[in-house]
Amino acid sequence: EAKSRGKNQFVVYEGALGQTRLQRLELVESLRASVGAGDLRLVYQPVVHALSGRITGVEALARWRSNGVDVSPDVFIKVAEESGLVVALGDVVLDIAARDCAELVAASGGDLNIAVNISAKQLREPDFVQKVEETQARMAGASLVLEITERDMVGDDAVSTEVMTSIADLGVALAIDDFGVGFSSIGYLQDMPVRIIKADGSFSDGIDRDERACALLCSITMMGQALGLDVVVEGIERPEQLEHLREHVHAPYAQGYLMYRPMALDAVVEALRENRTRVAAEAVGQRPPSGTSSMT
Ligand code: C2E
Ligand code: MG
Ligand code: MG
Ligand code: MG
Repeated sequence: EAKSRGKNQFVVYEGALGQTRLQRLELVESLRASVGAGDLRLVYQPVVHALSGRITGVEALARWRSNGVDVSPDVFIKVAEESGLVVALGDVVLDIAARDCAELVAASGGDLNIAVNISAKQLREPDFVQKVEETQARMAGASLVLEITERDMVGDDAVSTEVMTSIADLGVALAIDDFGVGFSSIGYLQDMPVRIIKADGSFSDGIDRDERACALLCSITMMGQALGLDVVVEGIERPEQLEHLREHVHAPYAQGYLMYRPMALDAVVEALRENRTRVAAEAVGQRPPSGTSSMT
C-alpha cells in the first residue's frame, strides 16, 4: 500500500480511494472537527410500497461538507470507520434523526419507519443498546430501523447475536443493507432477529432487460418472504424497472431515484404530505395505480 515515489522525499501512501496519506490525515482531522461540532447534515430518501406508491419509511443518509466541498459518503464513511470516528459520527446521526422525527411523523400521518445506517464498530460499543433505547424513546410515532450491511453481519468482526437480540427486544427493527453482495454465508439469517432485507441496487440494474437478473432478484425476494421478512429493492431508477418489480418480482417495497431522491428535511416533509394526500385520494377512488407518473 505504501509506495516510495522515486526521488520525491515524501512517501506517498495510497488508500483504497486513491488519496495520499496526507490527504487522508487532513480528511480525518477535518471530519473530526465537523463531527465534534455536530456539523453534519442528514438527507432522507423515502421507501415506498411498490404497488401503491405509499411512503412507508425514510432512510437517513449522512452528508458532509469539508472546506466548501461535498465529500461523498462512500469516502467519509470509510474514513470514519478506519479512524474510529464513526462512533461519534453515528451519535450525531442518531441525534439529528431523533430531532427531525416529530416533523417527519406529523407530515406522514404516523406509522413511519425511520431508518439509520449503522457501522459494525458502533454495535460493538458497550453503551450502544442504551443509545438505541434513548433514541427510540425520542421517536414517538415512528419505528426506528437500523440498517447494517451484510458485510458487517459475518466474518471475524461479525456483530454478536446477543447485541442484535437486545436491540430487537426494544422493538427496533434490524435491516440487512446491500443484501446479496457481501460474499457471505446467509446462515446468519437463522440466528439474527432480522426483519428487513434490502436487496442491493446492483440487482435492479437489468431486471427489465435480462432474465437472469430478474430471476436473481425474484429468488432473493422469495427467500426473504419465505423467512417472513420485509423485502426492499434498492436502486430503482427507470419506470421499466418498477413495472417489472410490480409484475414479476413481487417485491413489496422499493427505493430509488425514480420515486424519490434523498432530500433535505423540508423537501421530504413536503413529499410525505403530498404522498399521504394522493394515496388517500387514490384509495377512495379505488383507482388502481397505473404507471409511474403518479409516483414521481
Ligand atoms: P446505503 O445505505 O445502501 O444507501 C443507499 C445509497 O444509494 C445512497 O448513497 C443513496 O443516495 C443511493 N441511491 C438511492 N437510490 C438510488 C438509485 O436509484 N440509484 C443509485 N445509483 N443510487 C441510489 P449515499 O447517500 O451516497 O450513501 C452511500 C452509503 O454510505 C450508504 O449506502 C451507507 O452505506 C453509507 N452511509 C450513508 N450515511 C451513513 C451514516 O449515517 N452512517 C453510516 N454508517 N453509513 C452511512
Ligand atoms: Mg442503507
Ligand atoms: Mg442500501
Ligand atoms: Mg449501499
